[in-house]
Amino acid sequence: MFEKLCDETLLVETKAAVLKEKIQTSRVLDYLAEVDRRRLWLKEGYASLYGFCIRYLGYSEGETHRRIQACRLSQKVVEVKPLLENGTLSLTSLTLLSPVLEKSNAQDLLPRIINKPSREVADILAKEFPEKIQKKEILKIVLDEELKELLEKAKRLASEKDGAALLKRVLKSFVRQKKTRNTFTPRQTHRVQARTAKEVKDRDGYRCGYVGPNGVRCSQAAHLQIDHIRPYALGGSSRDLANLRLLCRAHNLYKARQDFPHWQKPFTLPRAPDVIAQR
Ligand SMILES: [Zn+2]
Repeated sequence: MFEKLCDETLLVETKAAVLKEKIQTSRVLDYLAEVDRRRLWLKEGYASLYGFCIRYLGYSEGETHRRIQACRLSQKVVEVKPLLENGTLSLTSLTLLSPVLEKSNAQDLLPRIINKPSREVADILAKEFPEKIQKKEILKIVLDEELKELLEKAKRLASEKDGAALLKRVLKSFVRQKKTRNTFTPRQTHRVQARTAKEVKDRDGYRCGYVGPNGVRCSQAAHLQIDHIRPYALGGSSRDLANLRLLCRAHNLYKARQDFPHWQKPFTLPRAPDVIAQR
């Protein structure tokens, strides 16, 4: 097919194919935005748009990250879309721009970024927004066997895969405990006892148990919460294992919105009637 093309035509057609690709990418971003707006990923059994892009659409992690950033940014700042379509702004540069680009600075910032390689874009942004483009520090720790084991246990118990996020949670809790050691916090009655929660976690294999209408089970193993299948506020038990299951935070919220559709943002679970609370 290509052998018969002269060099000039080959170059022209390559350029045209790339332009089509950019327009197609921009169209994908529109579809993703609508899928996200309808929260279809939740309904289908994925804990995030991120998981949906990887498992349902087959994107790599990097491709997913760039597309989600671009999708959300192009919804917020209208100047972004035409630049993506004419190829003067890449998805990688857009990802770099995401912490700093706003409606208010788009007209000033974008002309200075377009047509530049992403490394140059990174340099410009680091100079102009030193406080927002955080330099990440690397903490190196030598793990002995005991610490390794503790880390694995803590990851499971906290249902947190990311070491840095786990360390942050542990340190926050440590600091909070030190600050409030002498203050008494009354126990909420809808809370599931720690022992019961552990039984539910063991039974459900430390994974979200949500299954979408097409049979996809959410595989989220982080940010897990205990869900009352029949809500506590509607008389569901906090002690009966059959009424409890593990859900990720996103699906727990999704289910709560279905249980209480009239509830407005910000969403908090309604209090149980006193009659039920006394049981
Ligand atoms: Zn889930």
